[in-house]
Amino acid sequence: MTAICLVGIGKIAVDQHVPAINGSDDWELAATVSRAGTVDGVQAFTDFDQMLAERPDIPVVSLCLPPVPRYLYAAKAIAAGRHVMLEKPPGATMAEVHALVGMAKDAGVTLYTTWHSRMADGVAPAKAWLADKTITGAHINWKEDVRRWHPGQNWVFEPGGMGVFDPGINALSIITEILPQPMHLQSAELLFPENCDTPIAARMQWSGDVTGDFDWRQEGPQSWDITVETTAGQLGLIDGGSRLQIVGADVLVGGLGEYPSLYARMAELVKSGTSDVDLMPMVHVADALTLGRRVTTEPFHL
Ligand code: NAP
Repeated sequence: MTAICLVGIGKIAVDQHVPAINGSDDWELAATVSRAGTVDGVQAFTDFDQMLAERPDIPVVSLCLPPVPRYLYAAKAIAAGRHVMLEKPPGATMAEVHALVGMAKDAGVTLYTTWHSRMADGVAPAKAWLADKTITGAHINWKEDVRRWHPGQNWVFEPGGMGVFDPGINALSIITEILPQPMHLQSAELLFPENCDTPIAARMQWSGDVTGDFDWRQEGPQSWDITVETTAGQLGLIDGGSRLQIVGADVLVGGLGEYPSLYARMAELVKSGTSDVDLMPMVHVADALTLGRRVTTEPFHL
């Protein structure tokens, strides 16, 4: 087993990272770093530098902080010769992730920009089915209730928090994985509440007749669905990629689950001395913020 340190013991660390690490034969959760959070039975640091200095025996660090503070932690970890796993989105800007790629290469350590939704059970079979199809269009319908899923997480509406693209980038990570051809943004409309620095909803149009509706104000039933139209019929990825339908019929899919798959992949990368970095989902978010028409809407409070 390889010792790993988890940094930022908040919602996703508790919900997904800790169970995935504890359920894996590859990893031993050897330490945590968080100002407030801890994990029972695991050595807890509140200071990252202290952990790096006192635990040189931990070769891998997994960063579950929000994107804005994450870069500094990643840069320090790489400088200390540790392999680094980044929650999504991999950074607050693309340039800082490019900088981390160079640092990791120079230091000879692994950098993994994880995209958990790409590990959803339906994604790999969807990609395989679409590989030789002629795509005529696709639609993303990604609508959830931010108050339900991100209670008290005000950083999502602060600069770098990405707003509705915090969940929306999961859809972008899936569609950029499954479509056999690349797509580029042609237009976007972004709704910014007048008291927020990030959008709460977005409507997007890409090349190849790919469209997307993202909304963080959805009460009642939640939607995390992608449909792809082909000359051989429609493919549907439902519930964040966990369910797959091809030409109207459910396809039985199975797998390790999203976070266990991410940690299995990280184990492979460390073992083979390689990195896995893909910024394409973030490119589409950056393009939306570059090209999108901004519409101001009523104030929103979590
Ligand atoms: P969170 O609970 O708000 O934050 C995670 C932890 O990061 C906090 O508990 C906090 O720990 C630490 N932190 C926050 N701001 C910090 C700062 N400025 N400096 C240092 N540490 C700070 O967020 P989360 O929902 O877990 O999300 C974290 C990342 O995971 C995001 O990039 C998000 O997109 C991704 N993610 C979230 C979900 C989800 O459902 N929530 C799902 C998938 C991926 P301390 O205060 O104890 O230091």
